[in-house]
Amino acid sequence: MHLVWLKRDLRIEDHGPLFRASLTEKMMAMYIFEPKRMAQPDYGANHHAFIVDSLRELQQELVSLNIPLLYFVGEVVEVLSTLKSRYKTIHLHSHMEVGGGWTYDRDKQVKRWCQQQGVEWIEYPIFEVLRPYQNRDQWATRWREGVDKARFPTPHKQSRPVEPPSFPTMTVEPPSSQQVGLGEPAPQRQQGGRSQGIALWQSFLAERGKNYRKEMSSPVTAFDACSRLSPHLAWGTLSIREVYRVATHAQSTLVSAKHHRRSLDSFISRLHWRGHFMQKLEDQVEIENHCFHPLFEGLRPQKGNRDYLEAWKEGRTGVPIVDACMRALVATGWLNFRMRAMVVSFACYNLWLDWREIRDWLACQFTDYEPGIHISQLQMQAGVTGINAIRVYNPYKQSVDLDPEGVFIMRWVPELCSIPKEYIHQPFEVPPLIELMLNLDRGGYPQPIVDVEQTSKQAKERVFAIKQSLEAKVLSQQVFQRHGSRRKRHSKLEG
Ligand SMILES: Cc1cc2nc3c(=O)[nH]c(=O)nc-3n(C[C@H](O)[C@H](O)[C@H](O)COP(=O)(O)OP(=O)(O)OC[C@H]3O[C@@H](n4cnc5c(N)ncnc54)[C@H](O)[C@@H]3O)c2cc1C
Repeated sequence: MHLVWLKRDLRIEDHGPLFRASLTEKMMAMYIFEPKRMAQPDYGANHHAFIVDSLRELQQELVSLNIPLLYFVGEVVEVLSTLKSRYKTIHLHSHMEVGGGWTYDRDKQVKRWCQQQGVEWIEYPIFEVLRPYQNRDQWATRWREGVDKARFPTPHKQSRPVEPPSFPTMTVEPPSSQQVGLGEPAPQRQQGGRSQGIALWQSFLAERGKNYRKEMSSPVTAFDACSRLSPHLAWGTLSIREVYRVATHAQSTLVSAKHHRRSLDSFISRLHWRGHFMQKLEDQVEIENHCFHPLFEGLRPQKGNRDYLEAWKEGRTGVPIVDACMRALVATGWLNFRMRAMVVSFACYNLWLDWREIRDWLACQFTDYEPGIHISQLQMQAGVTGINAIRVYNPYKQSVDLDPEGVFIMRWVPELCSIPKEYIHQPFEVPPLIELMLNLDRGGYPQPIVDVEQTSKQAKERVFAIKQSLEAKVLSQQVFQRHGSRRKRHSKLEG
């Protein structure tokens, strides 16, 4: 029996394990809801709901190919043991996974079990990262070779489906996020399923992405102008190769307007960054819990101010653009890059919270959670990599520049709707006379919990005091050697 273990690859197209297994005579696909995985602090209702949507659609597609998709609730080794006792000889096919320590340890257990039981486990590469991996020097070239390879054909239709077994650990329907104790997903979350991904991709290429480069940073335009493909790439309803191939083709042949071509250029660079960041975790799983640069360990207290942390999560810091972002994130499960960077900068510099204190909560909000990108970006925005420029965002400046009319703020912080536009970014800076004349009502909106200017200055002093020491510079070189981008154009921007 050839078993395809689906993980972050919920599609049939460009799917090595499904295609290869479909060349055999007896195959099944399975998704395992692992209780220990679902209990991890970085697994949330948004992820689960997206997975369930995607599995439902995938099951229909597999049925049309006479391939059963089975759902199990149990730990992987337990499930495999049951299947082995039923089928005697099994071959396991799966994509490799780039996750944190938990998935790494689970895969080691699976490997050990396979070796003990004489089960062949064929792991297929994902094209974002290189495994085996030597060093960064040739990374970009080898990544390009990987994504340029011909994609896998659609799996072959089986002459008839194998009779699905019946085990107590199996379930007919995937369990909902409520059933597995994760609660409700975000009310305006992105829906999963390949058809959703394809629709987004088509509308981005045809229309939405035309001004991507110009509009990606503002929270007013980004929800529409960005591709919104990230959860589909993270959970694999689309493969990176499909997207990369179509984007490069469109750029060279279909798109005539210069600004549209340049937008696609920026988009393609970001696909490259995706792999660049994922490779860091693949190369050094310890970065999940430790700073890239060891001298930054202990920079911030392990347990920061609880009230600050809660105010930040709930969108009541008194800094309107930050609060609007946090509320939008909780409601939708998404933020654009600039706003993610800004809210992390605010938490780590202005509120002086350690990046590990916000890591799992943020991971659970982002439907597109991709551990390698998330961990690397968090550390970068918290200033603890030692190889990136220190960027302490001024949220008031970002607010004026990117939401000049306060449209985004008013949408998510409706308490401020009656504040005159010119004061919406700092509603407590209204001159007393105007305050009196207009009899302003801020609907209980709080005063800023910190002084942004003062806390930014203090944070920069603390970070630079470490960064500028000779020892730090030597260690930064080592981090760069291991993880830094060799592309000059990118290295300053994203390490
Ligand atoms: C603190 C922080 C945490 C983040 N966590 C994640 C995460 O868990 N998962 C995730 O996919 N992205 C993450 N990002 C990167 C980025 O914000 C998102 O990829 C992007 O907002 C997703 O929206 P989109 O698909 O419309 O992106 P687009 O702008 O349309 O970009 C297309 C694709 O390129 C990739 N991409 C874009 N920007 C980046 C980037 N800076 N680094 C790496 N890849 C990129 C993504 O796969 C994205 O889907 C994080 C950024 C920050 C600052």
